[in-house]
Amino acid sequence: MEQYDITIIGAGVVGCAVAREISRFQLRTVVLEKDMDVACGNSSRNTGMLHAGFTYAPGSLKAECTVEGNQEFDQVAKELDVPFKRTGKLVIGFNETDRANILKFKKIGEINGVKGMRMINREEMDKIDPNAGGEFAMYVPSSGILDPMQYTIALAENACSNGVKFRFGSKVEKILREGDTYRILTSSGEFRTKWVINCAGMYASQISEQLGYPNYPVRGFKGEYYVLDKKAGKNMPIPIYPAPNEKGGFATHATPTVDGNVLVGPDSYLTDEPEDYKTTKEHMDGLYRDGLKMFSEMKREYFIRNFAGIRWKIYNPSTGENQDFVLESDDAHPHTVNLVGIESPGITCALPLGRRAAAIIKEKEQPDNNPSFNPCRKGIRRFSEMSPEEKIHAVAENPDYGEIVCRCETVTRAEILTAIHNPLGVHTVTGIKNRTRATMGRCQGGYCETRITEMIEKELGISETDVRYSKAGSYMFTGKVR
Ligand SMILES: Cc1cc2nc3c(=O)[nH]c(=O)nc-3n(C[C@H](O)[C@H](O)[C@H](O)COP(=O)(O)OP(=O)(O)OC[C@H]3O[C@@H](n4cnc5c(N)ncnc54)[C@H](O)[C@@H]3O)c2cc1C
Repeated sequence: MEQYDITIIGAGVVGCAVAREISRFQLRTVVLEKDMDVACGNSSRNTGMLHAGFTYAPGSLKAECTVEGNQEFDQVAKELDVPFKRTGKLVIGFNETDRANILKFKKIGEINGVKGMRMINREEMDKIDPNAGGEFAMYVPSSGILDPMQYTIALAENACSNGVKFRFGSKVEKILREGDTYRILTSSGEFRTKWVINCAGMYASQISEQLGYPNYPVRGFKGEYYVLDKKAGKNMPIPIYPAPNEKGGFATHATPTVDGNVLVGPDSYLTDEPEDYKTTKEHMDGLYRDGLKMFSEMKREYFIRNFAGIRWKIYNPSTGENQDFVLESDDAHPHTVNLVGIESPGITCALPLGRRAAAIIKEKEQPDNNPSFNPCRKGIRRFSEMSPEEKIHAVAENPDYGEIVCRCETVTRAEILTAIHNPLGVHTVTGIKNRTRATMGRCQGGYCETRITEMIEKELGISETDVRYSKAGSYMFTGKVR
């Protein structure tokens, strides 16, 4: 049985940020993840906004962590070598109700410490983005965009190179308190640990109950998205959000991605199913209608894919009100840190939450610092982002840069090979996709998916029928046709 000081359940952005912060200390730490890679849950199913923090109640953990996470992100992006653009954001209005709601949240933002928000008229909007809808807007300069998959991968790789172990395909089924330790029964075997940290996202309430905390009432707010071609992205320099409603919720918005695509969505409706990620014609039609109000270049010919994610919010059953994030630890539940209801803006808040979890452990355990802790990690060098001179140099140094595997996104064999041999040992097709962008272009993998499968097979010396697309059971091939 593997033995650890700290066991983190869940390898979403929150679990990986907690792992990265705990890797600053000399503690034997493992992350248990039921799926085959990091970011298989909602951490890959969101808008990728670095939120500013003007819609969250002053004094709440959400408000505090959002502002903190926002302010530090230029430094974080540098350390972890992840793409990030501080684009700012336009929150647009059409009428006096919109104006009143925007001004209400501008005031809340100021209390929360969000800097630089200001109201602008149509003329000024045109200078920032002539394709934005609306008659007036609030300009929020501190908002930004990041790639949530790359960010989660970077946190995990950094934690891993600082000594944290990752065990994929390890679904936590039971947690037993035995003396001063916990025995954790998983789908891949048993683990013994002193501390358990619950970062199980959509299943966090169930893990919370197993640890003796409440089974918090949560409800899922599902949102669907359209992904638009980079041709649309050329006309979108800044995220465009409609005025919030009186509770601070946003309807469908349009956001550029760091790679130049555009996301239109999410909408929002209730679901009970923890992993119900299907998309529907009804909601796609709604996104088209609402997206057009934000972004005049919302054209059907630009649609290349859709996806959905679910925000799991804790709510108060007697009032129906949604609640703040829960991050708790007390002596009645020894050696546990419980994180539940980490819905939006969990990407923005991941490192501040990770720091708070690590501080609890530090206070109780007084661990030595990890002498070899390095906050920096290097990402895969992208051929598509190199200058012509850099490309010539890269190919001369490594001829694998001279072979394009994904034509839409110009991803080379060298990048795919680096991704296959990633530090976390992940080798699904989506694992390669999330690390390199191969298969993410206009043809959505029609050209390169089988080539990537073949490379995984050869590099790892496994059979083609062992290569999975993303999850356990999602085999790329099950046999030969001739
Ligand atoms: C539609 C949408 C839009 C959003 N937009 C933004 C945004 O723009 N900006 C922002 O900051 N935030 C945004 N968010 C919020 C953000 O995506 C989430 O808060 C964040 O991803 C939550 O991360 P997590 O690690 O808690 O959960 P997850 O990413 O869901 O990870 C939980 C992990 O735990 C694993 N797990 C669960 N149970 C077990 C078990 N028993 N054993 C082992 N593993 C287990 C799961 O497989 C999963 O990998 C958005 C969310 C959604 C859904």
